Amino acid sequence: MYNVPADFINEAKVWETLEQNKNPEPAKIKEVLSKAAEMKGLNLADVAVLTSISDPEMLAELFNMANTVKETIYGKRLVLFAPLYISNLCANECLYCAFRATNKAIDRHALSQEHIAREVEVLINQGHKRVLLVAGESYPKKGFDYVLESIRTIYSVKSEHGEIRRVNINVAPLTVDEFKLAKAEGIGTYQIFQETYHRETYKKVHVGGKKRDYNWRVWALHRAMEAGIDDVGIGVLFGLFDYRFEIMAMMQHIFELEDKFGVGPHTISVPRMEPATNSDIASHPPFPVSDIDFRKIVAILRLAVPYTGIIMSTRETAKMRRDTFALGVSQISAGSKTNPGGYEEDDEISGQFSLGDHRLLDEVIRDVASMGYIPSFCTACYRLGRTGQDFMDLAKPGDIRLHCGPNGLSSFKEYLQNYASPETREIGDQLIRETIAGLTGVAKQRAEKLVKRVEAGRDDVYC
Ligand code: SAM
Ligand code: SF4
Repeated sequence: MYNVPADFINEAKVWETLEQNKNPEPAKIKEVLSKAAEMKGLNLADVAVLTSISDPEMLAELFNMANTVKETIYGKRLVLFAPLYISNLCANECLYCAFRATNKAIDRHALSQEHIAREVEVLINQGHKRVLLVAGESYPKKGFDYVLESIRTIYSVKSEHGEIRRVNINVAPLTVDEFKLAKAEGIGTYQIFQETYHRETYKKVHVGGKKRDYNWRVWALHRAMEAGIDDVGIGVLFGLFDYRFEIMAMMQHIFELEDKFGVGPHTISVPRMEPATNSDIASHPPFPVSDIDFRKIVAILRLAVPYTGIIMSTRETAKMRRDTFALGVSQISAGSKTNPGGYEEDDEISGQFSLGDHRLLDEVIRDVASMGYIPSFCTACYRLGRTGQDFMDLAKPGDIRLHCGPNGLSSFKEYLQNYASPETREIGDQLIRETIAGLTGVAKQRAEKLVKRVEAGRDDVYC
């Protein structure tokens, strides 16, 4: 069934809804923003109204509401992770990507398990606890087993104070059976981006390999959920087509998952096209997204699906990352390399695309903490089985704070104690003290108890 046309992406309906809601009156925009304040999400027409905002005053109201919703639900927490590129072998021809099969300008590597273990050790010693495994769509000899073995390797590495506690993956669409195998290895989120939901554009930019099949890709998250993977991540590569269309179509995808599985995606990624070695289209995206529109995209998504995490990668500059924390971003990568083996030894030419933020994890943490955000390395929900619908049930304002707030603080304390530079430790410790002072009731008791345990030398404490 998963190879048939995906009717849930209804392009005619997207265009029609955008047309019906273009140039909305300020009163209409305010009505949608008031609805967003209830934090129950928005429908397709509401999203169309918000995508049509261009007036600076209305835009400011959109941003304010996004900030309110973000802070009410997520507080000041920002979850940290690092991508781990295990291979840049690829049989596809995505015109925007340096890893595409015919690009001779990059060195090709599929890391051995020993090499992966060394990369993981570097990440653990920086303080990371979450890794996103990334690979091109072609595996060395063992085929898909290579990915499974790599997940096992990542979890097996132990260093003085730590280990990777959650492995998420971003690899080519799998079959239901393959998803079951990945689940059995203990993956957290399975993440995949449709790149563009616009079928004609999709065809134009995917000119070779299995990825040409739009339907196989767009049904991937159905297969993952059918295989029992509760947390799935969705996304669009912004720059390939009109961002208004893309947000609307992605919403159709989200509604479909909610309808079929009772729960939507756990995260949304918003990659914006960056230059890539030997790619014209990556340097000159056909539909470039301006900085202001990019902020608008984040704010709209925050309001449309308030309980879905939004991920901001190091494709963006430090400034853009800072700006979007307030608008809805809840997870960020830090200290990233996009070339396999890049943590041990860097070679930017062979990376997948150019990075906008090159800072090390410690610098990012210091910056984030100076802005009053709590960097969180927590992996408790997934390890306690609070995934999918269970997570969404818990993720009500109030409830999430009783768990994620204290856990974020204790995991941050663990980072400061074991890995941070003295400068970062000072800023971080002060932030933890101030944050706990501002808490009340159960949240305060839990936070104090967990942080004290870490101070006493215990790692990995959570509730
Ligand atoms: N190969 C798998 C695939 O294509 O789904 C998974 C990994 S791929 C390396 C991860 C993502 O990188 C792609 O889904 C795409 O959105 C993004 N990407 C590729 N080229 C990019 C570029 N030039 N700028 C920004 N993101 C890019
Ligand atoms: Fe290969 Fe993924 Fe790059 Fe496409 S985006 S060329 S599938 S690595």
